[in-house]
Amino acid sequence: MSLPPLRIAIVGCGTAGPAAAVLLSRLGHQVVLFERADECKAVGAGFLLQPSGMGVLRELGILDEVLAHAAKVDRLHVLDSSGKTLLDLRYQELGQGIFGAGLHRPVLLHHLVKAMHAAQVDVRWGWEIVAAVRLENRWLLTSQVGFECGGFDLLIVADGARSTLRELVASGGINRGYPWGAHWFIGQNNGVFPEHELYQVVHGTRRLGGFLATGRDLSGGESLVSLFWSIKIADDAAWRTGPLDEWKAEIAAHCPKSVGLLAQITHWDQVLTARYGDVRMRRWHGDGVIVLGDAAHAMSPQLGQGVNLALADASCLAACISRHPLPQALRLYQRRRWLALRYYQFATRWLTPWFQSDHEWLTPIRHLFFGITRKIPWARRFMTRTMAGQVGSECGGAEK
Ligand SMILES: Cc1cc2nc3c(=O)[nH]c(=O)nc-3n(C[C@H](O)[C@H](O)[C@H](O)COP(=O)(O)OP(=O)(O)OC[C@H]3O[C@@H](n4cnc5c(N)ncnc54)[C@H](O)[C@@H]3O)c2cc1C
Repeated sequence: MSLPPLRIAIVGCGTAGPAAAVLLSRLGHQVVLFERADECKAVGAGFLLQPSGMGVLRELGILDEVLAHAAKVDRLHVLDSSGKTLLDLRYQELGQGIFGAGLHRPVLLHHLVKAMHAAQVDVRWGWEIVAAVRLENRWLLTSQVGFECGGFDLLIVADGARSTLRELVASGGINRGYPWGAHWFIGQNNGVFPEHELYQVVHGTRRLGGFLATGRDLSGGESLVSLFWSIKIADDAAWRTGPLDEWKAEIAAHCPKSVGLLAQITHWDQVLTARYGDVRMRRWHGDGVIVLGDAAHAMSPQLGQGVNLALADASCLAACISRHPLPQALRLYQRRRWLALRYYQFATRWLTPWFQSDHEWLTPIRHLFFGITRKIPWARRFMTRTMAGQVGSECGGAEK
């Protein structure tokens, strides 16, 4: 069946937005992407690209270029501060040649933007969309300075966890957020943290440190590592007015090998605060509108799936639109993404308090639970599949 080309507006140039723009433009649709930032300048810590996300980057044709900057990660290794292993999940359990990749967000965005140029997507930097109205089955968008752009058959909302546009979908949605978040910093690794693992140290439920080697940035310089240190958001201001050395000493006490990395931090300005979203929407689409990525289902990074789910959303939407007329394609998208998104939202909400909360009483249960599941092959394999982004993935971009 040959479907007529659509005029599509996408709001947000994070992960979901540009990935959808490339795939839909390649299908012959006319795509305009609006981003409030004035230029392509990604901010953000390192992240773990999972096999599920790699599949979409392969589809986009940028996997090799992206991986050239990445650190190849073979396992997730979580220890308690006495050095005892709590979790040790290895990608090889899922088959030969399967791995994760520690990566910088700017590297991914750079290659997504390059792919958008090659696909001739019309990108409008410096456009913050403040209003979208539907007139005679077409969307009209208005920017913060009153510019208008209209005539769109489909509006894709990909404006992140703090979305102001997701309410355009009739069922709306809420972002409950979490009381806990993280301080993060990117520094030079100097060979201290092994490139092949995501290394985490936990102590009770109030202290959690993550160290992810993330390869090289776009300049190709030194090998870098991202540090994440769990904090209660309510305590953030107090930490920042106190002595930096106290904060560093706390981390070093639980992870002595971080001393060299911490020495690179001389001012609080180098340490950023990440707040976690917890977005709940019953339905992700409405009349000529669909919400993708964090705007639709932001979650705590406990399972490290945000970027990967955003990529899979884009791939699934393009697959649905390639075969079906609009209203049907959006309904099909909802069905195909339902299992994966509901599973990861549920698992993340369930897991987060075990690692970031005031419920210290969970600690012995956590040790017992992970100690047992680690020894049961099918349970360990299921946890590894969860980490790799493979649960429910048959509902993602698999339909080609
Ligand atoms: C500490 C931390 C660690 C993480 N670790 C991982 C990890 O290991 N693995 C992983 O997969 N994910 C991780 N994530 C999550 C990941 O960063 C996000 O899930 C992912 O970037 C979501 O992509 P997105 O396109 O939906 O939204 P975003 O990347 O947030 O992009 C939204 C874009 O929309 C733009 N925008 C917003 N409003 C407007 C508007 N009105 N008009 C125009 N433009 C607008 C913004 O400027 C932005 O560019 C982590 C997150 C945190 C906080």
